[in-house]
Formats: sequence, structure tokens, C-alpha cells
Amino acid sequence: MHCCMAGRRSCWTRMCGWALYGRCAGCWNWVEDADHSMTRSPGPRECRAQHTHMERTGHHTEVKMDTRLEVIVVGGGIAGMACAVQLVEQAGPRPLRIRIIAKESVSGSNSFAAQGGMAAVWHPADSTASHVRDTLTVGEGRNDPAVVRRVVREGPAVVRTLLGMGAAFDTNEAGQLVLAREGGHTMARVVHHLDRTGAEIVRVLQRKVHALPAISVLDERAVDLIVEHGRCVGVRTLAPGTDRFTDRHAHVVVLATGGVGQVYQHTTNPPGATGDGIAMAIRANVPLRDMAFVQFHPTALYTGETGTAFLISEAVRGAGATLLRPDGRPLMAGIHPQGDLAPRNVVARTIARVMARTRAPHVWLDTAPIGVRHFAREFPAITARCREQGIRAGRDRIPVMPAAHYLCGGIRTDGAGRTSLKGLYALGECAGSGLHGADRLASNSLLEALVIPRHAAKCMLRDFPKHTPPPDHTNTGASATAPTSRATAAMPNSDALRRTMTMHGGILRTTHGLHLALSRMDRANTTVEQAWQRGDHGEDVLVQRNLVATSRAILHAALAEPLSIGTHWINPVRK
Ligand SMILES: Cc1cc2nc3c(=O)[nH]c(=O)nc-3n(C[C@H](O)[C@H](O)[C@H](O)COP(=O)(O)OP(=O)(O)OC[C@H]3O[C@@H](n4cnc5c(N)ncnc54)[C@H](O)[C@@H]3O)c2cc1C
Repeated sequence: MHCCMAGRRSCWTRMCGWALYGRCAGCWNWVEDADHSMTRSPGPRECRAQHTHMERTGHHTEVKMDTRLEVIVVGGGIAGMACAVQLVEQAGPRPLRIRIIAKESVSGSNSFAAQGGMAAVWHPADSTASHVRDTLTVGEGRNDPAVVRRVVREGPAVVRTLLGMGAAFDTNEAGQLVLAREGGHTMARVVHHLDRTGAEIVRVLQRKVHALPAISVLDERAVDLIVEHGRCVGVRTLAPGTDRFTDRHAHVVVLATGGVGQVYQHTTNPPGATGDGIAMAIRANVPLRDMAFVQFHPTALYTGETGTAFLISEAVRGAGATLLRPDGRPLMAGIHPQGDLAPRNVVARTIARVMARTRAPHVWLDTAPIGVRHFAREFPAITARCREQGIRAGRDRIPVMPAAHYLCGGIRTDGAGRTSLKGLYALGECAGSGLHGADRLASNSLLEALVIPRHAAKCMLRDFPKHTPPPDHTNTGASATAPTSRATAAMPNSDALRRTMTMHGGILRTTHGLHLALSRMDRANTTVEQAWQRGDHGEDVLVQRNLVATSRAILHAALAEPLSIGTHWINPVRK
């Protein structure tokens, strides 16, 4: 342990405010970090008690007392990690402790699964105005134009930052970024790393997170928000294998819990995408927005199984593949001027109608126009997955079907991730920032997950001193209820609930179907909440509680939209 000001093992001459003999000077707890140098963010990793630290300012001559900003980020995907990194970078020498709470490793996140890329104005012939226009067109005017402008304007800066962090986006022989064109875009503007863009961005962010001692990652599941006197002051969590809740307190809580795809039978989202953050927000009476707008990706690999389906990226159609009906005729001919690259909701709906009419379980994606070699070079992950199914990508037709892919709405926030509940932010896919409106322009979500955290971090650092700091950080005392693992009698059948959502709350909706689904979900909600109140907090109840709450929010929002718009298509007359 070195004193950060004197640079020696112990500091006898000056009060530096940090470590003497390896203990935190503020609270006298042992400090684990070996080095609080000037260039690193000061902040012991596991110094838990609430206290003040000395903050060095200006030319390091002036010393003032300052409260350490405590932030809990729920979710370790791109939005959560970007927020944590931004906080450290913007805080400078200001004391800070950020705990990322993630219920599973980042490979189980939507971020890791992202294939196609991130949209940004990069080509000299492209413009902010054009990207904004495309976003508003696909969102059918339901977007918040100010948020759209903010996110689009900062796209190039985000690309530069990622390149600076070592992201290996695809380049041509001249070293220029290769830009792909995806559905709804009038320009090629999607930067990518093969068909594993999300994993590449995760890689560079994760490296950064691990290098910053102010950030720690806890392997826990957040269960509920802790709200006191109209302010979010923490989260209740459950660690794997433990039988007690922990109340973790912070000045600011950030929900970055990702998607809701598991509400449906077929989804491109991983199993953990159960809408946890949205359900927590609902239980804390935090308003949502645009929940009716669930984007279905037109081309998930059909295998005959339900659950998580492998995505065949839109970039494959961008590279020349075409959709065919079950009988082999072109599917999108005469449907939309952009043909196979029409907005996703148009393509998904067309496929859903064809499948319903022909009773076929899938349609075809003809990859022959791309060629085997080119396909393997551009889309190695898709090639490998197809091979497992006995399909030669680049030559064969791939059986595809639509699958729930992206929630355009979420927890209502402003352009800096602030919700209406003080102390609570929401970022990434669980947030309804207004960027997407009624449908998401392809590859805008990774951009959102990287831009909005910059502004969120700024607000947190600016606003937090006015808040009353929480009295302590963790509490496993009397307020925590012991969860039980006993099996729950008469719990609703998860598969049946997912089938209900797919049939009535999915791509093709009717007023009658939505009411039917809602009454089933209401009954399921009563059962699950009763189990919860009885103290049955097993995995089944934990997951269903969130799935049912999220499903009900989608159905209510869909019923409040009498007209079809964006991803929401409703036929009110069909009974
Ligand atoms: C197959 C696929 C391909 C995609 N391709 C693209 C693309 O090409 N371009 C694009 O822009 N977008 C794409 N998307 C969408 C994009 O990946 C996501 O919208 C974005 O990555 C969301 O990031 P996030 O950080 O908000 O959420 P996620 O990356 O999903 O992270 C959520 C995190 O929250 C954690 N979590 C959830 N609940 C809890 C809880 N209760 N307690 C603790 N932790 C919790 C999870 O473990 C995870 O770490 C794709 C999505 C999928 C599924």
C-alpha cells in the first residue's frame, strides 16, 4: 500500500486522505487496492461504510472534504458498462464507487449477441440530417426528436472512442471502415466487426471496466428497487446460492437490465432477457413509455424449438440474400419499395401473414446470391451455426421465422437516462428514451447504449451532492425476507403464458385477442404475487413475476393504441 500523495509506503508528514498502513483514512476499513495513484480513480473497492474522503483539487494543493458518489448499476451489458466507465472518466479525481450487479456473465446479454453493427454517420456522403430522418421515418414520428438528434450527432464520436479503446471494426485495404447498409437506412452507415459486433464492443469495455479500481462487479440478481421518501436509495438483491436478500444502498441506481424477449415463444434474446428492470420499475410506480412497440426480427433461424433462436442478421440481406415464400416465390416483391430491406416490422408482418396463410412453420432465406466463400468471410458465426443444422450458408436456403427481438419502449427517461423517480436512471434496452418511437431503426440500439450513458454520468456527477447520502450500503438485517426454494403449487405454466403473448400480443394483434391475453395475465399475476407474498421466492416465482408484469405492460400499452403504427399492428374488427 502506497500513500497516494507522498508516494511512500506510509505517510507521516501530511494527511493525504487515503491510505495509511493499508486502511482507509475515512472509515478505517482495510483497503484492498494496492495503488491509489493520481492518475487512477481514488476509491477502495470494498470499503463499505458511509464516510467522507479527502478530494484533491486544482494543482493538488487544495484539500476539501467531499462525499464519495455511490452508484449501483444493475446490468453488465454495454449500457451498464458504458455508464460505469463514463462515470470514472468524467469524475476525474473525485471519489467514486460503482458496483455493477449482473445476474449472469456478459456472454448471456443481448449486447454480446449483437451481430450486425452500430449505426453512425461516418461516410463523407452521409449526414446527421439523413440519419435523423431515417430514424424518424422508421419510428413513424413517435420518437423524441431531441433525443434522436443527440444520439445521432454523437455517433461519430462514439466510433472514434471505441476505435481508441482498440475495437477492431472491419476495414478495407485502405484502412477505412467498411460500412454496411441495413433495413430502413438510406445510406451504408453500420460499422461492424464481422458478425460479432456486440462481442467486440463488450471486449473493449470489459477490459476497461477491469482496469478501473472504482468499479466492482457483483454476481447477484436485483429483485426490487428500494424507495424511501420518493427517492430510489438502492436495490434488493439475491446472490446465487444464498437464502437471504441483501439491501444495497447508493446515491444513484441505474437500471440497465436489457430486453424482454423471453416474454414470447420465439426470441433472439438470451434466456436472461426477462424484463427484470422494467418489472422492478412497474412495482415502484415508475412510468414507462412505448411498451406496445416490440420489434420482431424477420429472420431468426428456424429449428423447430421454442425459446432462444439464433439470429440471421439483416446484414445477410444487405449482402444480397433474398426472402422466399414456402413455395419458393420471392416474398417481398411488390410489398415495399425497399424490398427485402424494408423496415423490420413490414418484413416480419409479411412473413407472419404468409406463415399463417400457408400454415408453414417458416419461410426461406436464399443465400446463394452471396456465395459460400464470401458468406463465410463476412458471417463466420452464422456460417458455423448453419453448419450445425446441416445448412451450407452462401449456397443453401436457410429456414427462417420472425422472433421477438427488441423492445422499442421501456422505462420512461429523458435524453440523459433520468426517470421520474429521483435517484433512478434507466439506460440501454430497458429504457424508453424516445429514440426509437414506434419502431427501431436497425443498429441504433448499440449507439443509444453508448451515447446516453455519457449524459447520464454527467448528470449524476453534477446532481448528486444535493442528495442526502444513504445511511449505509448493505443490510441483510430484519427487513430482508428469507426466500424459499420449495416448489410452488399451481404456478402458471410459463410456456402457456409465452404462447398467449405470441398469439395475441405479438406481430398480429386484435382487440379481442389483447383482452383475452390480458385477462390470462391478470390471473397469472394474482397467483404469482400471492406466492411472493407467502414468501415463496424460488427461481420460478422470481422469473414469472417479472415476465407477467412485463407482459401486462405490453398488453395494456397495445390496447391503448387503437390504430396500427410501427411494430404495433392491430385489426380491431377480427373477433
Ligand atoms: C441477437 C441480437 C442481435 C442484435 N444485433 C444488434 C445490432 O447488430 N445492432 C444493434 O444496435 N443492436 C443489436 N441488438 C440489440 C442490442 O444488442 C441491445 O439492445 C443492446 O445490446 C442492449 O444492451 P443493454 O446493455 O441495454 O442490455 P444487455 O446487453 O441485455 O445487458 C443486460 C444486463 O442486465 C443483466 N440483468 C438483467 N436482469 C438483471 C437482474 N435482475 N439483476 C442483475 N442483472 C440483471 C444481464 O445479466 C445483463 O448483464 C441485437 C440484439 C440481439 C438479441
